[in-house]
Amino acid sequence: MNTYDFVIVGGGSAGCVLANRLSASGNWQVLLLEAGPADGNPFIKIPNGVIPLIRSDALNWKFWTTPQKACGGRPMFWPRGRTLGGSSAINAMCYIRGHAWDYDHWASLGNDGWSYRDVLPYFRKMENFEAIDKLPGAAEFHGRGGPLNVAEHRYVNPLMTAFVDAAQQAGHKKTDDFNGAQQEGVGYFHVMQKDGERCSNAHGFLAPALGRPNLKVITGAQAARVLFEGKRAAGVRYLHNGRYAEALARREVILSAGAIGSPHLLLLSGVGPRAQIEQHGIQPVHELPGVGENLQDHLDIHVTWEEKTRHAMSLHPASLWRSLKALFQYLFGRRGELTTNLAQAGGFLKSDAAQPIPDLQWHLVPFIYSDHGQNLTPLFKYYAFTLMTCFLRPESRGNVRLASADPLARPLIDANYLATPRDMEALVQGFKQARKVLEQPAFAPHRLLELEPGAAVQSDEQIRDFIRRRAETVYHPVGTCKMGRDAMAVVDARLRVHGLGSLRVVDASIMPTLVGGNTNAPTTMIAERAADLILQDAALGVGVPDYVAEPATADAMVEK
Ligand SMILES: Cc1cc2nc3c(=O)[nH]c(=O)nc-3n(C[C@H](O)[C@H](O)[C@H](O)COP(=O)(O)OP(=O)(O)OC[C@H]3O[C@@H](n4cnc5c(N)ncnc54)[C@H](O)[C@@H]3O)c2cc1C
Repeated sequence: MNTYDFVIVGGGSAGCVLANRLSASGNWQVLLLEAGPADGNPFIKIPNGVIPLIRSDALNWKFWTTPQKACGGRPMFWPRGRTLGGSSAINAMCYIRGHAWDYDHWASLGNDGWSYRDVLPYFRKMENFEAIDKLPGAAEFHGRGGPLNVAEHRYVNPLMTAFVDAAQQAGHKKTDDFNGAQQEGVGYFHVMQKDGERCSNAHGFLAPALGRPNLKVITGAQAARVLFEGKRAAGVRYLHNGRYAEALARREVILSAGAIGSPHLLLLSGVGPRAQIEQHGIQPVHELPGVGENLQDHLDIHVTWEEKTRHAMSLHPASLWRSLKALFQYLFGRRGELTTNLAQAGGFLKSDAAQPIPDLQWHLVPFIYSDHGQNLTPLFKYYAFTLMTCFLRPESRGNVRLASADPLARPLIDANYLATPRDMEALVQGFKQARKVLEQPAFAPHRLLELEPGAAVQSDEQIRDFIRRRAETVYHPVGTCKMGRDAMAVVDARLRVHGLGSLRVVDASIMPTLVGGNTNAPTTMIAERAADLILQDAALGVGVPDYVAEPATADAMVEK
């Protein structure tokens, strides 16, 4: 009864893809374990419902980092989805794949099969790109008929139009497709939505598979450890309804618990740096020094203006009538402001002209920046707009480590932001370019006063100080179970955990380096490709019971 071919831990972006693809043939019994509840909350569907989701205790892990040394000792708030769909159920829906260079770089690190040429077919397979016939040349880069619906905006806030115009006035080119032939430029993001509602990976991939008799999904089931028979993963122990239960895997256990959850679970299971595991009294199963290391994230700095024209989103009493209209438009036709993903426009630019590819990203949001929506007070007071800049390929590396052997205790997350001068200087350059855009004539009708950082902040040192005090995550942690061949790699290019049998990691944690863009589409692609690899091995009978993936070798390629 409790034995399956595949046991997947984590029903997030990657887990939903795997649950669909691995159960599609009907040949394999698949179990999906998700720690959070089902995804019935109406705010998940409403694109504009992001702020309640960020504030939710039930649907969000609400992690905090350790105090960040280079950011004035501040701990940082890290939201992560905790429901079917995972972070794709609470994210901002911007559909961005990263730059072709990112995948060629992964391949150059020794990860065969992950070059842009190799992964493009998976990006195409996973999507239904609604604008495919509208944009010239789109068919070369985009797909039709895939489970993840990618749409254009149904309503565009005038502040977004002002941004796209202003950026062009500041010398940036406009692009109609950040995922097409050229990433560089400014424009409107495509969004993971269908018919005016969020298309999370649970909606796109899991929902159509739920009726299959060979797929079982258990929500409210938090995995506590992987069970091993020698060096082979045999199943998972999980907590459900206050009791521990076990699920056994004939073929494989697959960890898709995300960039925090997957390394945390490996460490709890005795896989990772030996000293750390023993320090917490956990029985070591296999030494892998890279588990939880190599953490990378995009750090954002903002410029916020108070707005004259009152197009911004606000909780100001004067916006009540507009909110009612928006609700009416949404309820009767899925139109209007509630269909917006907040960050509707943005762009990719270079921190200096010598960069070969864009290394900065912009997101414009039509409200005042207020601690990720946790503090609503400024929203009652201001109409405002905020341009956020992040450096796409940070050099800083942090880690996820055990705080305790208790599976319910939060791990320690050290993002180690701004650990190198390059990470800081790129943000300073991006900040200056952002400010320049907001000062263009296209914003003249909307501008009232620069609220943050304010006119007093001008010199590079003042900007650095502002970054240390106010920069925040843009929610893209990756890399903590990195794919590769060097001594710090956790999985190989088929995403099998080095040195162990029947165990893979498939989620954002396997990225060896952070891609130049948002991370949901790349994670979905990773899971699509992983599903093919897993099914190939299953068809060949490779994988159980006695295969052990090649151990990592110290002399293999080291990340440059
Ligand atoms: C607020 C926010 C905004 C974002 N905006 C965008 C955006 O606009 N565009 C974009 O492309 N990306 C965005 N992202 C990032 C993107 O959503 C993530 O990179 C992506 O969802 C990661 O997928 P994953 O499968 O690795 O992890 P997740 O989707 O986080 O899934 C992990 C799942 O595992 C579950 N889990 C964890 N531990 C356990 C356990 N022990 N047992 C059982 N289950 C467990 C979790 O509850 C979760 O459901 C955003 C993220 C956030 C949080």
